[in-house]
This record gives sequence, C-alpha cells and structure tokens, in this order.
Amino acid sequence: MNIILSGKDIKRFWDKVEKNDKDKCWEWLASKDKDGYGYFSVKGKTYKAHRISYIINSGNQIPIGMVIMHSCDTTSCINPEHLSLGTVAKNNRDIILKNRQNWNPAIGTNNGKSILNEYIVLEMRNFYKNGKTFKEISEHFDVKIPTVRAVIYHHSWRHVGGYKGVASQTHKLNMNIAKKIRHQYQNKISTIKELAKKYKVNVSNIYAILSNRIYKEKL
Ligand SMILES: [Zn+2]
Repeated sequence: MNIILSGKDIKRFWDKVEKNDKDKCWEWLASKDKDGYGYFSVKGKTYKAHRISYIINSGNQIPIGMVIMHSCDTTSCINPEHLSLGTVAKNNRDIILKNRQNWNPAIGTNNGKSILNEYIVLEMRNFYKNGKTFKEISEHFDVKIPTVRAVIYHHSWRHVGGYKGVASQTHKLNMNIAKKIRHQYQNKISTIKELAKKYKVNVSNIYAILSNRIYKEKL
C-alpha cells in the first residue's frame, strides 16, 4: 500500500522527533505501542513511525513483504541512518540472533525456524491472494510449508483476518478446462475473478494456470 505524505504530514512527523547526531538514535516522542514502536497517523490511518521515516528519507515506498529493520535495535528510533530495507526472513533471523524472540509475544505459531506475527501473517495471506504458491511463500518468509498452509487456511492465526484460502479445488480442473481458461483470459473474455467464479475454484488456481504452473502447456 502506498503511503502518500503531504509537506504538512512531513513537518508534523519531524515535530514528533528528538533529532540527534547522525550516529545516535532519534527518539520518537509521540505515541508508541507495547513494543516501543512509534505510531504516526496519516489521513486517519496509523503507521509505524520508523516506516514513515524510511519513506520520507528514501523517497520510496516499502515493497509488499519487506520490512524496515533497525541496525541499532531500538524500536522507538527513527533515525534514517539506522533503518534499512530487508526481507521478513532476514529480519526474523536478525531478531533471533539478537535474542529478542519475545519481540512479539502474540498468540500463534513459532515453528522454530521463523517467527510469525500479525503483520507477517497478513502479508502471507496477501501473497497467496496475489497468486503466490505455498512454496514461494514458504521461501520468501522462511517458514515451513505446513505453517504456510495453516496460515492461509486460517487453521492458525484465526484472530488476524485477511484473505482466507480454501483447500485446493484443482480436482474441478483438467487440461481441457485449463486451456479454456487461458483462452478466455488471453482474449479478455473473462477476468481472473470471473474465471474463478465460473469454474468454482480459487483465484490462486486461476493464477497457477495462467502462469503455467499447473496444467502446463508448451508456450
Ligand atoms: Zn537508532
């Protein structure tokens, strides 16, 4: 999701910061969550302050599935020099290395490989919604496939919400139907959503066909 900041927002943001030398931490002075992360609201939506700091400083949005990591390990710090873009998997490894496993003591699973939290769970569900496979999600977030499956089907982390997958309905498909689906999509006869509805399968199944991951055709 893109966060658009006006000049006013940016000024309001820096007013809440105790600026310091470049090599020192810059403390967030306004509201913080239980883990010490600063919070900043833009147009009625609340964002983590260090993420806003990164966006202001870099001029870039944060890609889906990426996190902003603190080199200083101070969650309330918003010094851009201490912030960097990383993958969820790398951040989790860093956190484990820094012995902060209780970073988010939320209910859920800890499979010993990577730590999940509400944010990551929502991102994983988003990835699935956008047609990523369990394997791809597993690799991106550095969690095991059964964990991914439990997250996507809402067998775990039920309290979080987000996109809910239903167990594979690919038995409703066959090569002939896959060909029809490709034809209809390529000729702009039906959208992915319409195709999913028409053939009573998940959007992710349609994506899998269109990207030639299942019922492969020589292209
Ligand atoms: Zn810092």
